[in-house]
Amino acid sequence: MKTSRMAAAKRPRVDLNRAVIFLGPPGSGKGTQAKVLADRYGVPHLSTGDMLREHVSRNTPLGAEAKPIMERGELVPDSLVLKMVAQRIARLDCKRGFVFDGFPRTVAQARYLDDLLERRGFGRPSVIHLVIDPALLLRRLTGRRMCKVGGEIYNIYDRPTKVEGRCDNDGGELVQRPDDREEVVASRLEAYEKQTAPLVAYYRQRGVLHDVDAAKSVEEVGQQVRRSVQPARRGIRRGKVRS
Ligand code: ADP
Ligand code: AMP
Repeated sequence: MKTSRMAAAKRPRVDLNRAVIFLGPPGSGKGTQAKVLADRYGVPHLSTGDMLREHVSRNTPLGAEAKPIMERGELVPDSLVLKMVAQRIARLDCKRGFVFDGFPRTVAQARYLDDLLERRGFGRPSVIHLVIDPALLLRRLTGRRMCKVGGEIYNIYDRPTKVEGRCDNDGGELVQRPDDREEVVASRLEAYEKQTAPLVAYYRQRGVLHDVDAAKSVEEVGQQVRRSVQPARRGIRRGKVRS
C-alpha cells in the first residue's frame, strides 16, 4: 500500500469504514482509480492480481500454482484466492476499510466476501462498476506499462512518462506484464465476460452498484468515483476487527 502521495492533512476527515470494490473488465482502469481512492482515504489498496504476481515472483507454492494459469489469462481457482484475501483483510491496517481491485471475480468469491465482511463487522460494500466499450480495451492493455519499484501504472499511448521507460515518481524501470500481450488479452476478456460480468447483476440487485463511465479521462473518472463513494459514518460498523 502506498499512502504517501496525499499528505495526511489533505485527506478527508471521515473514515471510509467499508470495502470499496472496483468491478470492470481488464484495462477498464480499476488499478489506476483504486490507488487514488485508497490514497485519498489512507486505506490499503488490495489488488489480488498484485498479490498473486508477488507470490509468483517469490516462487511460493501458491505462486507456482498460479503462474501457468495467469500466463494463460484464466482465473486462479477460488480456493487459492479466498484464503489469500481472508488473511490480508484480517490485518490491522484494514480496520478502517480497504479498496479491492480485481476481487471478487466470481459469484462464489462475492458470496464468500459478503460473509467475510459481515464477520469482520463491515456493512455492505460500495461497488464501482467501470463501464467501457470493449473496443477501447486492447489499446489500454497492450499499451500498459508498470513501474517495477512502486507499481505506478502508465500507458505508452495515453499516459506516457516524462522520460521513456522510467517512472515519473521514483525513476524505476517500466515493464510490460506478460499477460498484456495481445494473445493472452483475448482469454482474459473472455474470462471476464463468462465469470465476472454476472457480478454486475449480483451487486445491482443488492442496490450497491454505481455505474461509472470509464471511457472518460482519468481525472473525470476519478470525479465520478469520488461522488459515488459516500463514506460510512463512525459507529455504523457492527463489530470489532480481530487482528
Ligand atoms: P485495470 O486495473 O482495470 O486492468 P489499469 O488501471 O491498469 O486497468 O489501466 C489499464 C491501462 O489504461 C493503463 O495503461 C492505464 O494507464 C490506462 N488508463 C486507465 N484509466 C484510463 C483513462 N481513464 N483513460 C486513458 N487511459 C487510462
Ligand atoms: P489483474 O492484475 O487484476 O489483471 O489480474 C491478473 C491475473 O491474476 C488474472 O488474469 C487472474 O489470472 C489472476 N487473478 C487476479 N485476481 C483474481 C481473482 N480475484 N480470482 C481469480 N484470479 C485472479
